[in-house]
Amino acid sequence: MTPDDALLPTFSRIGESTTARYTEIPEGSMLPETAYRIVSDEMMLDGNARLNLATFVGTWMDEHADRLYSEAFDKNMIDKDEYPATAAIEEYCWRILADLWHAPDHRDAIGTSTIGSSEACMLGGLALKRRWQHARRAAGQSTEKPNLIMSSAVQVCWEKFCNYFDVEMRLIPTSDEHPLMDGTGLEDVVDENTIGVVALMGVTYTGAYEPVTAIAAKLDAIQAKTGLDIPMHVDGASGAMVAPFLQPELEWDFRVERVQSINTSGHKYGLVYPGVGWVVWRNVAALPDDLVFRVSYLGGEMPTFALNFSRPGAQVLLQYYRFLRLGRNGYREIQQTTQDVARYLSGAIGRMDAYELLTDGSDIPVFAWRLKPGHTDKWTLYHLSERLRIRGWLVPAYPLSGDQSDQTVMRIVSRNGLSHDLAEDLLRDIRIETAFLDSLASPMPHPGIKTTFHH
Ligand SMILES: *Cc1c(COP(=O)(O)O)cnc(C)c1O
Repeated sequence: MTPDDALLPTFSRIGESTTARYTEIPEGSMLPETAYRIVSDEMMLDGNARLNLATFVGTWMDEHADRLYSEAFDKNMIDKDEYPATAAIEEYCWRILADLWHAPDHRDAIGTSTIGSSEACMLGGLALKRRWQHARRAAGQSTEKPNLIMSSAVQVCWEKFCNYFDVEMRLIPTSDEHPLMDGTGLEDVVDENTIGVVALMGVTYTGAYEPVTAIAAKLDAIQAKTGLDIPMHVDGASGAMVAPFLQPELEWDFRVERVQSINTSGHKYGLVYPGVGWVVWRNVAALPDDLVFRVSYLGGEMPTFALNFSRPGAQVLLQYYRFLRLGRNGYREIQQTTQDVARYLSGAIGRMDAYELLTDGSDIPVFAWRLKPGHTDKWTLYHLSERLRIRGWLVPAYPLSGDQSDQTVMRIVSRNGLSHDLAEDLLRDIRIETAFLDSLASPMPHPGIKTTFHH
């Protein structure tokens, strides 16, 4: 008889009555219900995903999606030959996106699923780098010093791309005059070694769209003057699944000729659980063929371009489920509701004496605010973030980027599942905690727990 006997009462078993914090694999086995309980109980200390207003990533799907997920969690996306139906569905999905993003001829577009936008951005960046290398080599010029241009407000995946793949990162700092990269100053940083410019459709710090057409127009002017033809990649991690439904007239996608590739996170406003992203190139020519590998598929072969080999296929199926279940109208409905909640919240917060808005959620349903200058020297948004956490809300405070890094802001990401009533409760708690902090007789005794929050 092992000590971990089913007869021992729950919570009196090994791992429950002693410790299960092994850093080496334990010698003996455990009953499944004991191991389950230990892991499941440890998770209780996580925040509640639905009250996590820091994340862009999906925290709710319907029961049919959950059922599909449980039927598909054993699918490996790379096994194209063994799971040809899943492979075909992956292709339907990126073709749907190519169409949604106005690829000039969506039969000539090419794309792939990824594990998220980070991998998708790596692939987009690699295609830009390889294209530039080919052109430089063909002209007998050096390929030593590639650079990539973007705003200082980029998500960390671009820093990773530049670091991992030896590309110089040229940042246009955000400033109070130019809180978004709008083309200003590009002429000073673009040169013959520039592999591309990244535009953000949905800056993670504030939720605002960078003006893709203004950036493209500036690159047109630079080309007219210097002959340099600089391609663009749009990082639409969040916005590429919002703009087609809420701002259909806005030109940011393949309608802008300079845009060669676009990524999005299926698990953000694509409305799928974590683990899926997409990247699409405007045409086959935009993706250098020597980056593409062939895997066997139905007796023939299929092109693949990815950093990972094995990865879950279930999320790709869930994406297709969402496309079918919702259609254009359903996506529009959901994104609109989500945006209405964001606008409602930002309107109310903007009217509070203590705060002023940086954005109001009218691009993607995300907005940021700061303390009104001079409002108080007793507390900061870090304190407010802590106070809200006591009530269960996870709302991050963090510094801006570039020349604005001395400014602390707070941000709310409105997502499918943040209902109007929940938003109302959140507002009540923000009002109560703001009044509490304002009522302090002296400053908070410590500077507040600085964020470990990452963009
Ligand atoms: C979230 C985000 C990313 C990273 O996406 P993941 O899907 O989390 O890998 C990249 N860029 C932007 C603008 C983002 O918002």
